Amino acid sequence: MNCVKCHHTDEIHETATNDSLLQRGRCMIPSCGCTKFSDAIKKIDEDLL
Ligand SMILES: [Zn+2]
Ligand SMILES: [Zn+2]
Repeated sequence: MNCVKCHHTDEIHETATNDSLLQRGRCMIPSCGCTKFSDAIKKIDEDLL
């Protein structure tokens, strides 16, 4: 699974616990400015590809 913002994998995003939910925080790639992992909510890339 890749982040829709920066296209890095979810594994490289910092894992943060929010209550009982596991969430992915900022990307740990130094040159990446992504602050929060975003899963694909809408399938918008089908037309873009
Ligand atoms: Zn990233
Ligand atoms: Zn990201």
